[in-house]
Amino acid sequence: MTNYDPNNIFAKIIRGEIPATKVYEDDQILAFNDISRAAPTHVLVIPKGQFINFADFISKANDKEIVDFFKKVSDIAKSLNLTESGYRLISNTGPNASQSVQHFHVHLIGGKKLGGLIPGDNNVR
Ligand code: 5GP
Repeated sequence: MTNYDPNNIFAKIIRGEIPATKVYEDDQILAFNDISRAAPTHVLVIPKGQFINFADFISKANDKEIVDFFKKVSDIAKSLNLTESGYRLISNTGPNASQSVQHFHVHLIGGKKLGGLIPGDNNVR
């Protein structure tokens, strides 16, 4: 895995160098609207620490950071009224998943009936 690039776009958003529409922020995490919405609600949740992707986060963050992060993702979904209607979490990790920003993020997507698991996959499971 290559080193963390402190000039990736999400690092710039954390530092306030690029604007974003914030949904939630504390000292550990930031949630903001994706610039290219895939659904009525499309929020990106990121830790403020320097982690390249999900695998990097799990291997380098401590247990409390990991638990806190995912609990806050759930809290944010709740605050956006998505818990009852349902939502999808996606974390693209690495080239086969077409991860385009090299700072760990979870897409929180909801607000409509979502399609298949991946493009071209219309199976209902
Ligand atoms: P990935 O493809 O890495 O899973 O997701 C990266 C996401 O970041 C994409 O959905 C893309 O629309 C979003 N994104 C890229 N640049 C920006 C930006 O400058 N601002 C915001 N809010 N989202 C961005």
